[in-house]
Amino acid sequence: MIDLRSDTVTRPTPEMLNAMMQAKTGDDVFRDDPTIKELEAKAASLFGMEAALYCPSGTMTNQLAVKTHTQPGDEVIIEQTNHVYFYEAGGMAFHSGCSVRLIKGDRGRIKPQDILDNINPENDHHARTRLVSIENTANRGGGSYYTLSEMGALSETAHYTGLKIHLDGARIFNALVELNISPIEVGKHFDSVSFCLSKGLGCPVGSLLLSDEDFIKRARKYRKIFGGGMRQAGILAAAGIYALDNNIERLRDDHQRARTIGQVLSSKNFVEWIMPIDTNIIIFKCTEEMPANQFSTFLKEHDILAVDIGRNQVRMVTHLDIDDSKVDKVCSVLNQMEDRPLNITQHNAFTASNR
Ligand SMILES: *Cc1c(COP(=O)(O)O)cnc(C)c1O
Repeated sequence: MIDLRSDTVTRPTPEMLNAMMQAKTGDDVFRDDPTIKELEAKAASLFGMEAALYCPSGTMTNQLAVKTHTQPGDEVIIEQTNHVYFYEAGGMAFHSGCSVRLIKGDRGRIKPQDILDNINPENDHHARTRLVSIENTANRGGGSYYTLSEMGALSETAHYTGLKIHLDGARIFNALVELNISPIEVGKHFDSVSFCLSKGLGCPVGSLLLSDEDFIKRARKYRKIFGGGMRQAGILAAAGIYALDNNIERLRDDHQRARTIGQVLSSKNFVEWIMPIDTNIIIFKCTEEMPANQFSTFLKEHDILAVDIGRNQVRMVTHLDIDDSKVDKVCSVLNQMEDRPLNITQHNAFTASNR
């Protein structure tokens, strides 16, 4: 199978597995796991932050950030398609009792003026606006990214108005390699940063939350409350250390491969539009004659997996397990599709996964 559904589908390589086998471990709830401590210190220093917290998922690091930044009844300014709001099952309400102010952005990105326009006045009627959360790269934005100066402007605006700002950097390294900047330049703009090891970096598990000492101390307590205190998880953390040492620069190849597939797609008559391919995510809309589920069924017959993400919208993501030969195969299968008579099954166009 050529699995383009997500960059979360990667399997650890033999080299990564070897690093995991060698890991020294201990009980991390007692702060006894040297490998987790090493990963946390490494991640924090990469971004120039004081401290880090290793967690099982990016959903947990994001939700811990919201919990640690806010009090119940506070409001969070966030773009309406961002993961923290759209894909975390109402977690901000569930864990933190927060309300949200949703911004309709440009491919998942907001502007400083959006912050200024959406801060509640301080009076008895309104929720206290407390936090801005942004996403880089933006998943539903097709892997779009903020530049360093855009991040700086958002951070300056948030801080100037007394707000905290969190970066959901699940795929921040994809943005960093495109921008040719170091994580330290990003870290200095945010009160907290979350990034995933289990996406393009190729680890089986894990995300990190970064901030100052006091914040991470409080977040660690909440992690225990959330049930995320782990024991000899150094085995998993070792994969993270390996990934930070070896799998960042190669993200450029994923971006090139995504562009190659995107070029073929944009020449097809069944593609109504395709988002610009800024990093490793390809999102496009099929025409009415080629419902998304029909497109993915055709691909599946050729051992290629894509995912339907909306009304006739399809997403493909390149990653560590997609090499040039797999890209060639995908392109040749896509090229075959042109010759195929379109089989119009309109009534079939909307399945549950296709909303
Ligand atoms: C994947 C992802 C997360 C975290 O997802 P988990 O599956 O919980 O690790 C957070 N934000 C964005 C933008 C993501 O794409």
